Amino acid sequence: MTRPLVVLGATGSIGRQVLDVARRLDFPVAAVVARHGSDALAVIADEFPDAAIGIAAPTGSERERFSAYGSRVRSGPDASVELASMPGAIVVNGIVGVAGLRSSLAALEAGNRLALANKESLVAGGPVVLEALRRGGGELIPVDSEHSAVFQCLVGEEVESVRRLVLTASGGPFRGKTREELENASPADALHHPTWSMGSRITIDSASLANKGFEVIEAHHLFGIPYAQIDVVVHPQSIVHSFVEFTDGSVKAQMGEPDMRIPIQYALTHPQRFAAPTSSDPSTWTLTFDMPDRAAFPALDIIIEAGMRGGSAPATVNAADEIAVGAFLTGRLGFLGIASILEQTMERVPQVKLTSVEDVAYVDQEARSVASSLIGGAC
Ligand code: MG
Repeated sequence: MTRPLVVLGATGSIGRQVLDVARRLDFPVAAVVARHGSDALAVIADEFPDAAIGIAAPTGSERERFSAYGSRVRSGPDASVELASMPGAIVVNGIVGVAGLRSSLAALEAGNRLALANKESLVAGGPVVLEALRRGGGELIPVDSEHSAVFQCLVGEEVESVRRLVLTASGGPFRGKTREELENASPADALHHPTWSMGSRITIDSASLANKGFEVIEAHHLFGIPYAQIDVVVHPQSIVHSFVEFTDGSVKAQMGEPDMRIPIQYALTHPQRFAAPTSSDPSTWTLTFDMPDRAAFPALDIIIEAGMRGGSAPATVNAADEIAVGAFLTGRLGFLGIASILEQTMERVPQVKLTSVEDVAYVDQEARSVASSLIGGAC
């Protein structure tokens, strides 16, 4: 009943929670992949002695240390691609960044189930990923809480019956702040997320609402819904993970405590539901909803605009955002500068059609260098 599990990004925030779920449900962990041969990876490798071990970028001493694991180890940039193609696997892609795209493609082309937590696969490589899904006949199941919510609301429904998707946003640490108040926002302020605990880029992206813009692009690709029918609403409690409104006026929501292990588990067990220790007490819930402040958080609309332009524009803003967030975190760019870098980079990098992973890599590099020079010039 349970299929072999391949966990890409095994030592990261998503990967660790995937392994929690796997332990509890007794899923056979067939492979674990991380960027480095860290202590954390060694602990995982010892706990799951049948798992192949992938190390994408081992240092010399990591190579030496992991040689003790013999033929279990695959090293180098192709390790995750090779392991993602394992026949019959459920591949959880928790790799951070555009580096995760090739593994997503490999999983789908092999006809595997891809439980997708790597945002860049669909944001930067949407058309290429959808083509791989068509060709390989695999399954694409979202792990992100909002997309899992929509996915769950759509089980048993026809996409033609959808009037609108409404993605919820917690609003992040700067919810309610005006544009003027955000002028001097520091990295420490932005890193303090009220409801979810996540990596640093995604936490900054939540503070700027860039993350929600990227999620709109992902939703467009995942569910085939036009951008005009995807809305965003601010919901600070993070209990309603998203809504689907149908043509007959009925609205479905998927709700639950903000715990990533719920959508992770669903992505592994769909269409079944397995028991979990997480429980909810709706009598303690107060649910509020607000419209996002699009003037204070312009990144949201800039990124949705990139989605509507299509082609390489989303890959461009994604790369620009990674550079801009890095500059903000190291004090080289103000908080409001992030959105302005996205906009300027999108105007400067020519838009092209994306048909291969090489196209995505090319645009990604172009956008990075344009964004970097814009930031350099701003100092
Ligand atoms: Mg999310």
